[in-house]
Amino acid sequence: MRERTISDRWQGYGGIGLSNKKIPFDFVVLQGKNRVKLGLKIIKINGQGFQIESLAMERAKINRGKHMTEIRSTVILGSGCAGLTAAIYTGRAGFSPLILEGHEPGGQLSMTTLVENFPGWPEGIQGPELIDNMKKQAARFGATFQQVDLASVDVKENPFRLKTSAGEILTRTLIVASGASARWLGLKSEQALIGHGVSSCATCDGFFFRGKEIAVVGGGDSAMEEALFLTRFASKVTLLHRREGFRASKIMLERAQAHPQIVLRPNTVIEEVLGVEEKDVKGLRLRDVTTGEQTTLAISGLFLGIGHEPNVKMFAGQIDLDDDGYIRTSGNVLVTNKGVVVPGIYACGDVQDRRYRQAITAAGSGCMAALEAEKFLDEQGH
Ligand code: NAP
Repeated sequence: MRERTISDRWQGYGGIGLSNKKIPFDFVVLQGKNRVKLGLKIIKINGQGFQIESLAMERAKINRGKHMTEIRSTVILGSGCAGLTAAIYTGRAGFSPLILEGHEPGGQLSMTTLVENFPGWPEGIQGPELIDNMKKQAARFGATFQQVDLASVDVKENPFRLKTSAGEILTRTLIVASGASARWLGLKSEQALIGHGVSSCATCDGFFFRGKEIAVVGGGDSAMEEALFLTRFASKVTLLHRREGFRASKIMLERAQAHPQIVLRPNTVIEEVLGVEEKDVKGLRLRDVTTGEQTTLAISGLFLGIGHEPNVKMFAGQIDLDDDGYIRTSGNVLVTNKGVVVPGIYACGDVQDRRYRQAITAAGSGCMAALEAEKFLDEQGH
């Protein structure tokens, strides 16, 4: 790290900074006419010189030129379990991470109900509460949050460039924790009725189906969980699954099978969601895959529980993905391009995990990504 006299640099800006204090620095951001922001800390310029409020300048660097863009140490894409754990660790290491929250803040846990398998909560904890706790914990260590639309990402050279609806961000390390979004069946009628009786979020929309008959599609834990949750509102839940065997864990499947309001219908696919003209779900046209028989099921709501797609669109062509679009990682969280590790970029959580996909494994990989980012920054002398 270089050491410079701050006045050397600031004389070039009209002689406003006259301090001779020697400081090591990494970046500086100009804010308005009379304030300079160093990292998260503020220095006031009062006409006679700098008033230094903090020694967060260790990570400061002054860029010459008209437009000075802050180079962040760490930016985290995604605010689910993986991203927030990475934020807690990089925050505690003093790297003031910026978390870009994405279009589903809090990730999948924020849309779930009781989480019974996260260690440390013997009675379970509500998903949104768990996320909220993690967010507070990250903020306590200096993490900041921004809700912006990410237009593009360029990871060809370091610092990496992120274009967002609120401007460009430069960062030395990037932790990709963008998770995965709900998968849809892809039927025209299904797409036409999203928000009119078709939903991918039982916790968000279940309330609207009080006393009604509904269907859930899927054979994994998400489908079981949704079906069980929806029995709080719906009078009957039909669980439709495309084959005989269920992917769900034994305990979840047994709970669904034992519930008096849930009817399981395996070997059944949805051909059409009825009600497009009325703009309101009226039923489903179903086909039994073993007999080919077509039937109609009268329902008022359809909930999707068929898994998720990794959120990686912005990285297309820049990093290695597997056949289903999950980020390929080497050494747990290292990201590669054509098989070669890209230093400074790490992936964690569901965006790179097609096998385990648990809150606790997402948190674990978020921790690994943070430790790798810290190691990289240390090695680079930041
Ligand atoms: P999943 O395990 O991948 O299950 C997806 C289900 O949807 C499968 O049964 C699949 O059928 C079916 N499916 C996929 N595409 C379909 C299509 N186009 N049409 C009809 N059916 C389709 O996904 P998940 O249930 O979201 O679970 C993901 C992970 O999170 C798992 O590891 C799970 O254990 C975990 N999880 C845990 C909990 C909990 O413990 N409380 C709750 C939710 C999720 P096939 O089986 O035929 O492929």
